[in-house]
Amino acid sequence: MAVRICGSALGAFPGAECVGIVEEAGDAAQHLAGQAVLLPRVLSCGECSCCRRGAVLACPQRRARPVRPQPFEVVPARYLLPVAPPYVRVAPPAETLWQLALLSDALLTPYTGLVRAGVSPGTVCVVLGQGFRAQLAAVMAEALGLFVVRFSAQEAVQLDPAAARQRVAELANAQGLPRAGACIVETVGSDAARARAVLMAEPASSVLLLERSLPLGGADVEGRLVAEPEAGAQLVSVAVLQHVVAMQAQVLAVAPHPDLLPELLALCGRAQLDLASHTRAVRAEEIEAVMATRRSGQETDLRLPIVQFA
Ligand SMILES: [Zn+2]
Repeated sequence: MAVRICGSALGAFPGAECVGIVEEAGDAAQHLAGQAVLLPRVLSCGECSCCRRGAVLACPQRRARPVRPQPFEVVPARYLLPVAPPYVRVAPPAETLWQLALLSDALLTPYTGLVRAGVSPGTVCVVLGQGFRAQLAAVMAEALGLFVVRFSAQEAVQLDPAAARQRVAELANAQGLPRAGACIVETVGSDAARARAVLMAEPASSVLLLERSLPLGGADVEGRLVAEPEAGAQLVSVAVLQHVVAMQAQVLAVAPHPDLLPELLALCGRAQLDLASHTRAVRAEEIEAVMATRRSGQETDLRLPIVQFA
C-alpha cells in the first residue's frame, strides 16, 4: 500500500508517527483506496512468540521505519487503521487529518503502558519529564480519569525520591486518594531519571519506563538535557531492587502496541480530546529549526510539532 503522508509527528521517533491517505492499494485491499489511515509507530509482525506476549519491540520481524519525516511510505495493508466509523463517529475533515499523527506514538505509548498497568479512575499517576512526551502522557492519564502529579525533568533527576514521594502523598491525601497502586510514568529516558522513577514506587505500583527518544540527528534530547551519568550509576544499585521488592512493585518497559490503536482512536472521540490544542503544524522546511530548538532544551511550546505535508 502506498500511503501519502499528511502528518508526520516530530515526537520521540520522527518519521515513524504518521497519518496519511492510501494512494495505491493492492487487489486484496481495494476497500482502503483513498481512505485516511493511521500508521502505528511500531510495525511488529503480530505472530511471533515475542508479539504474542506483547513484547513488540523485541519482534525480530519488526519493520524498519523512516527516521525522518517522509511524504510517502509503502506499508502492508494489515498495519493500517482506517480513520473511519466505527473507530470515529464521523471521518475527520481533510484539513485536520494531520493532527491524528499525535496518536501513533505520543498517545499510544502512554495509553499502552497505562492499560498494561491496569489503572482505573482515581489512580494516582506520577509523570516524570517536561517535554511533550511528558505533557501527552499526562493528557492521556487525565483522559482515563487518573489523578496526575507532575515532576519536571530536572526534578526527576535532582529530587530526593523520598521527598518526591512525600509530595505525592500530600497531594493524594488532599484528594482522598490512596497512594497504593500509583502509576509512575518515566518519560525522560536517562538512567538517573529511571532509577528515581523506580525509587518513587508506592505499594503495588507500576513503574512505566519508556524508550529513549531518538530525535533527528540521533541525540537523546531529554536524556542529554538532564544527563547525570554518575548520579544515575550510583542510584542503579541494589537499593532500587530492594525498593521494588519492598513495595511489591512492577516495572514495565512500555512500547506503543499497534493492537491498541483502534481503541485509543475510539477513546479520543469519547473523551472528546481536543487534538488541536495539543498539536501544531510545521512545514517540511522547518524540520531542522524545530529539532534544533528541541536539542537546545529551550522549547517552551508543549504542543507536539507535526509536519504537515501538502
Ligand atoms: Zn513479531
